[in-house]
Amino acid sequence: MKRFLLIALGMLGFAVVLVAAAFASAFVGNAPLQPGLVDGFVHVVSEDYVTADILDIGDGKVALIDAGVDPTGKAILAELAAMKLDAHAVSAIFLTHGHTDHVAGAVVFPDAKVYALQADVALAEGRVGGHGLITQLMPVKPTGVHVTRALTDGEVVQVGNRAVHVLAIPGHTAGSAAYLVDGALFLGDSAGATSDGTLKAAPKVFSDDPTQNRQSLKALAARLGTEHLDVKTLIFAHTGRLAGLAPLTRFAANN
Ligand SMILES: [Zn+2]
Repeated sequence: MKRFLLIALGMLGFAVVLVAAAFASAFVGNAPLQPGLVDGFVHVVSEDYVTADILDIGDGKVALIDAGVDPTGKAILAELAAMKLDAHAVSAIFLTHGHTDHVAGAVVFPDAKVYALQADVALAEGRVGGHGLITQLMPVKPTGVHVTRALTDGEVVQVGNRAVHVLAIPGHTAGSAAYLVDGALFLGDSAGATSDGTLKAAPKVFSDDPTQNRQSLKALAARLGTEHLDVKTLIFAHTGRLAGLAPLTRFAANN
C-alpha cells in the first residue's frame, strides 16, 4: 500500500513538473511588451500581460484589435483620452480569437461592431470553453460581448480609411485570426517574439492544437508572399513586436 502511494505521488510530481515546464516555456525568454505608437497609426496599449491595439481610422474614429482583459477598459480609455477621444470613438473591434483576455474590454464601447472569425464566436461570447491543456480548466461564463458579425477567411473589411485583411490561422483556437492593416500584421496569441528577435509559435498549454498552429504560421508566411501583401511590423498580444516579414518566413523555413 505504502509502495503504491509512493509510486502515485511520484507520478503526480512528474506530471506537475511537466506542466510547470510547459507553463514556463510560454513566458520565459519573451520580448517584453512594448506599448506605444507603431507605424504612425497603431497605439499599442498594455494591460500588464496583454496588449490591445487602437488603430486610427480617420475622422476622429478608431478600431481596436482585441479589447484586453479588463472589463472596465481603463487603459484603453486612458489612451483614447490622450488622443482626445472617448469610448464612442471606437467603431469596430476585431478579435484575434475568443479567449477572455482579448475580449473582456469590448463591453465598454457601445458604438463598436464586434468582428471575429465564425469558429470563435461562441468562445468570445462565453458560451463554450477552450480546449487547451490549461484553457479547458477555465470556467465558462457569458462575457457580455456580442459578436456583431462573423468573419470568413480572406475577406477585407473597410473601416474608415483602413482596409483590414482577415487571415485565418487556426490552432491556438479554431477561430484564431491574423489581421493585416497597412503593413501591420496582428497575430494575437498565435505567435510571439523572443528577446533575441525570433518568432515563436503559440504557447502549447494555452492552445487547442499546437501542431495546427505551427502549420497555420507556415501557411501564412507562404500566403503573404504569394498574395504580395506587404508586412512592415509583426504585432503580438503577449510579447513585444518584430520588424518585417523575415521572422515569420524564418520560422516557416525552420519548422
Ligand atoms: Zn489566447
